[in-house]
Amino acid sequence: MEQKTYSLVIVGFGGMGSYHVQLIEPSEHLAVTGVYDLVDYRMELAAAKGFKTYDSLEAVLSDETVDVVLIATPNDVHKTIAIQALKSGKHVICEKPVTINSADLLDIIAVAKEEDRIFMVHQNRRWDEDFLIIQDIIQKKKIGEVFHLESRVQGANGIPGDWRQLKAYGGGMLLDWGVHLLDQLLLLTGSKIDSVSSELSTILGTEVDDGFTGFIRFKDGLTAVIEVGTTNFIKLPRWYVKGTEGTAIIRDWDLSGEIVVNNPDVVKVEPKPIQAGQGLTKTMAPPSEESTLRLPIENPESTKQSFYENFVSVIEGKSKPLVKNEEVHRVLRLIETIFEAAEKQVILKGLEL
Ligand code: NAD
Repeated sequence: MEQKTYSLVIVGFGGMGSYHVQLIEPSEHLAVTGVYDLVDYRMELAAAKGFKTYDSLEAVLSDETVDVVLIATPNDVHKTIAIQALKSGKHVICEKPVTINSADLLDIIAVAKEEDRIFMVHQNRRWDEDFLIIQDIIQKKKIGEVFHLESRVQGANGIPGDWRQLKAYGGGMLLDWGVHLLDQLLLLTGSKIDSVSSELSTILGTEVDDGFTGFIRFKDGLTAVIEVGTTNFIKLPRWYVKGTEGTAIIRDWDLSGEIVVNNPDVVKVEPKPIQAGQGLTKTMAPPSEESTLRLPIENPESTKQSFYENFVSVIEGKSKPLVKNEEVHRVLRLIETIFEAAEKQVILKGLEL
């Protein structure tokens, strides 16, 4: 029997909504057929691209030819649109952050279960090459046992757009880039979180955070610094990862970086003291060239389905979701913990997260 092509309508045709058109294009069994946006200009753009435009969300949901609703509106309305769509029998793809608190996500999950519909969150940065490389380094123990990692994104352009600067819309950088970095972090270890401390940045004077630094300690001893900044004119590396046998750096999305490890075939050479400022140091001298190896940054071959292929396969009961709602819920709980630690200015310990 020929496989069905699922008809998908995008609700919220702004920056990300229109980018989904490009992302879905290669998908064989998912086709963007229509658009609904509150703003006329966005609807005109959609019509010019040949999509059916709808006058209201209700019109989308009562159209029986629509199988899937993709939500790419500002964050505050994801929940109501998702629940309405699920109750109308549609499967739903929702942009991140799925909701602005973890309790709201549980409400959506309950409705998806009741209605027997698929609800999946677009955590697309699980497919980012820099992340897949770091995951591979950790899994293959290329730098030994990883005991500390730092994951950062930094820009100097402030908070973009309008609603991202407003609390009521679920704005702020922790709910924006933070969601991606924390989602990636939780996939890098099987361990539970032990403690969290954090600082929110409000340099720009907006009512929401314009960045944050989170310090996270896992029960297995791994520590992590997760940082998002919007006033960084010079960037720190995207990834800095320390293991018992070496260190890995990925500087940026261009995947420039290096891995330096102990050379197992060479007996460790005593470092020679180096001049450091007005003194000498052996402790801080670089490891000798002979006793270390430089490994290339290698992109692991991935056989992982694309987000959209997986979504279709989950609808058809052929695959498990690559983005599980429990994982997304854990990220939201971690975000809530980061907000709480920053507000109370404490290290929250003994967590069950
Ligand atoms: P945007 O402001 O560019 O677009 C939002 C659109 O939604 C606008 O066109 C607006 O008119 C429309 N809209 C608002 N309320 C609506 C409603 N009730 N019904 C229908 N349309 C409505 O914002 P954006 O940057 O595209 O972000 C949209 C969502 O996508 C956010 O949740 C954001 O976090 C997410 N996003 C995800 C990624 C990613 O990499 N996964 C990247 C960017 C944005």
